[in-house]
Amino acid sequence: MSIQNELVKIAKQCYDTGLTVGTSGNVSVKEGNMMYITPSALPYNEMTEEDVLEVDLTTGEVVKGYRKPSSETPMHTSIYLQKENIKAIVHTHSTYATIFACAHKAIPPVHYTIADIGREVAVAPYARYGSEQLAKYAVETLGDANGVLLANHGVVAVGSTLADAYRRAETIEEVALLAYGSNTLQSVNPLTDEELDEALEGFKTYTSN
Ligand SMILES: [Zn+2]
Repeated sequence: MSIQNELVKIAKQCYDTGLTVGTSGNVSVKEGNMMYITPSALPYNEMTEEDVLEVDLTTGEVVKGYRKPSSETPMHTSIYLQKENIKAIVHTHSTYATIFACAHKAIPPVHYTIADIGREVAVAPYARYGSEQLAKYAVETLGDANGVLLANHGVVAVGSTLADAYRRAETIEEVALLAYGSNTLQSVNPLTDEELDEALEGFKTYTSN
C-alpha cells in the first residue's frame, strides 16, 4: 500500500469511528524530508490518494497535489521539524476530549491506557486555528507525551506510525469519556504516581502490531 493510500485509510477510519465529524480534523505522515497531509475541506468519503498533498518540510512548499492543504499544515510541519521521532500525526475534534479542551482541563489518568500517551493529556493555550502561534503552543505543551489538547479546539495524537497515532487519538477520546463519566458520578479517581509509573513502564514496549 502506498503511503498516500495508508494516509487516506486512516483519515477515513477517523471519520467512520466518529473521531472526526464533517470535514474537521486532519492526518499526516512523514517520510524522509517530505510530509503527506490530507486536503482542506474535502469530505472523507470522497477522498482518494490523489487528493493527498506532498509538502517539503524544509521549505514548507507543496511539491505535489492540486488541492489546498489542511489549514493545520503549520502545526504538522512544526511538530515534525522539532520532534525527530514523530512520524505521524492525527488531529481530531473528538467530542469528549474536546470538552476537556474547551474547559481548559487536562484529561486525568483515570484509566491505565493513558500511559500510551503520558501521565495526563495536557492542554496547550488557545491560539487561532491554523496559526504559527498554535503550532508553537502545541509543540511546547506536547513535550515528550504522545498527545496534547488544543484549548477550545481539539486533539493532537502523534506516533512513529500512522497506526500508533490513530490508536492514541482513540485512546485520548476513550479516557476523556471515562473521566467525564467519573466526574458525573462525582468520583474521579486518578491513578497514583506509582501506579502510573508501572503503567508507563508497560507501555514502553507496547506496539499496535
Ligand atoms: Zn482542528
